[in-house]
Amino acid sequence: MRLAYSTWPEITAFLNTSKTVIIPIGSNEQHGPMGLLGTDWMCPEIIATAAEKVAQGSEALMLAPTFNIGMAQHHLGFAGTISLRPSTFMAAIEDWVLSLARHGFDHIYFLNGHGGNIATIEAAFSQIYSHYSYNNKTCPLTLRLKNWWDLPGVASLCHGMFPVGHGSHATPSEIAVTYAAYPDQVREVELTPKIPPTGPILDALDYRARFPDGRIGADSSLATIELGQQIIDTAVAGLLSDIKLFSAEQKPA
Ligand SMILES: [Zn+2]
Repeated sequence: MRLAYSTWPEITAFLNTSKTVIIPIGSNEQHGPMGLLGTDWMCPEIIATAAEKVAQGSEALMLAPTFNIGMAQHHLGFAGTISLRPSTFMAAIEDWVLSLARHGFDHIYFLNGHGGNIATIEAAFSQIYSHYSYNNKTCPLTLRLKNWWDLPGVASLCHGMFPVGHGSHATPSEIAVTYAAYPDQVREVELTPKIPPTGPILDALDYRARFPDGRIGADSSLATIELGQQIIDTAVAGLLSDIKLFSAEQKPA
């Protein structure tokens, strides 16, 4: 079930069968000359939406709207990037979680598509848990952050597909996933150099100076629709098995 395409009585009925919700979360940021700005929110949304369709026949999954703006200050040197500062992002995550928790969702699973979000999402979880810790109470929520590339089977598949030139930003794997889902958005661009440099991430001007076209160590031109579909299929199976385990997790009595 997709939360945004449901009515409130349907959500109330769903909560009698499951209290798990998946939130795709990402970022709107530059992805080099071949990658779409939405790559990091599209990838988790594409995977979660496909998994939700597969699950319709058996146990329904609840899919929340995509949280599509993240912490991307280091990409602000490139046109089109939109970023929340870490403190804003944490506050927004907390409000999303508390809204869903108020209705009875108690297993909240963020499927993430942006490495730059990880520290802030984990900090937001700690902030939520701390309200209970200081008051000597047990938090009723089980919160999980999972990067789509860490789903079972995905990293080894991508490593096999792209042994050289995978890199860490504007990677052929993430771009392939978006090309598979949106074949009319495929870009043909001559990349120079094929494999750009790698290095640390600091502020936006520093990033632009180190990584002039936005890519970090990634030959985006290796992305194809066919490879993207293979990655999606593996990630969907991985997500379905991971969600099953997550939903079964219980707090100690
Ligand atoms: Zn990305």
